[in-house]
Amino acid sequence: MSFVSLGLIDPLLRCLDTLGYQKPTPVQAQAIPAVLAKRDLMAAAQTGTGKTAAFALPLLQRLTMEGPQVGSNAVRCLVLVPTRELAQQVYESFCTYGANLPLRMHVAYGGVSINPQMMKLRKGLDVLVATPGRLLDLYSQNAVKFDALQTLVLDEADRMLDLGFSRELDAVFAALPKQRQTLLFSATFSDVIRKMAGELLVNPVSVEVSPRNTTVKAVKQWAVTVDKKRKPELFMHLLKKRRWGQVLVFVKTRKGVEQLADILQAEGINADTIHGDKPQPARLRALERFKAGEVQILVATDVAARGLDIDALPQVVNFDLPIVAEDYIHRTGRTGRAGATGEAISLVCADEVTQLAAIEMLTKQTLQRIDEAGFEPEHRVPVTDAGGKAMKKPKKLKQPKSPQQIIVPKAAKQASRKRR
Ligand code: AMP
Repeated sequence: MSFVSLGLIDPLLRCLDTLGYQKPTPVQAQAIPAVLAKRDLMAAAQTGTGKTAAFALPLLQRLTMEGPQVGSNAVRCLVLVPTRELAQQVYESFCTYGANLPLRMHVAYGGVSINPQMMKLRKGLDVLVATPGRLLDLYSQNAVKFDALQTLVLDEADRMLDLGFSRELDAVFAALPKQRQTLLFSATFSDVIRKMAGELLVNPVSVEVSPRNTTVKAVKQWAVTVDKKRKPELFMHLLKKRRWGQVLVFVKTRKGVEQLADILQAEGINADTIHGDKPQPARLRALERFKAGEVQILVATDVAARGLDIDALPQVVNFDLPIVAEDYIHRTGRTGRAGATGEAISLVCADEVTQLAAIEMLTKQTLQRIDEAGFEPEHRVPVTDAGGKAMKKPKKLKQPKSPQQIIVPKAAKQASRKRR
């Protein structure tokens, strides 16, 4: 199978050649012909499978072939995504793939001024990538019209629902023409997503490139049990001992993200953060610096890091386990991309046993536990397995406190005090 045999036009083929894409990924091989044929599509594909090109390439082709015919404030193709970072990333992919095409494209998300977005929309757009909230703001101010809309893409639909965008999505759907093509991409397919697909899609082509609710096979996954308070110390220990390069670290809360980054920076480790409390330009800058290899450790919350495509990321660390088990799959998908191997390591404390059990049930695998000498937890993490086994009461081991149980290195405390 080649891109030529999929019927892609010359300007796109030249671009793919420059990018070094030799053949279509499975999701592209299945989705491109369906999108070109104007079919609706329901695709179970997570980030890393090449799903962005799977919808961007055929849509760019159709928009070009049909000729530019966009009226003021009109949008021909709308791509909805859950987060600002993903909006920027998907928009950049459209720009890259469409570099040789005469199309007008833009991106709209919150946290930045709405005026430049309104200006861009004035002449109309062939492609608008947007987050639901900002799109509705633009719509309520008559800055965007949907009369000429041909295609709606829902990217990471599951995440949009997880983030509570359900009402915004309903409002957007109500504003769109009924006659249109709809493409729905989701990493996981819950019953709610299936219901939404049932309401939105007409006779869709179904594409499933990773079985439902599985993590990427190429990713080696393991867990270390540890007491909660010793997680920062264990992370630094593993970083040094295993000579990790760039690591994306997931922490549950925004505050936790900053605390860990403070600790790492105080130890002279080059770390940056992305989370919802950070202004958008700073979030993008941190991401760009991480992608450019200028930052070794990027500490993030789920929301901010969802869907990010970072090349050749060898390690993902779950400093905290996610509350929603599906997020484990999304996090793990940050590594082992496009056939590369990767590692996803979870630091698990006794409080997190329920989350661990839920993850193991969802992924139908028991996470291998690897003990780290000197970090054996005082509060044991009960045995879990993929069948949902989790002993009720964690047993407390009576162990003398070792000198290694210093939680936050002194330098970090001083640094964070100074900052306050
Ligand atoms: P995505 O799943 O859309 O986030 O894409 C994951 C990564 O795969 C991106 O960095 C793309 O540039 C890359 N990619 C997409 N399609 C191909 C392909 N056919 N061959 C090689 N790399 C690809």
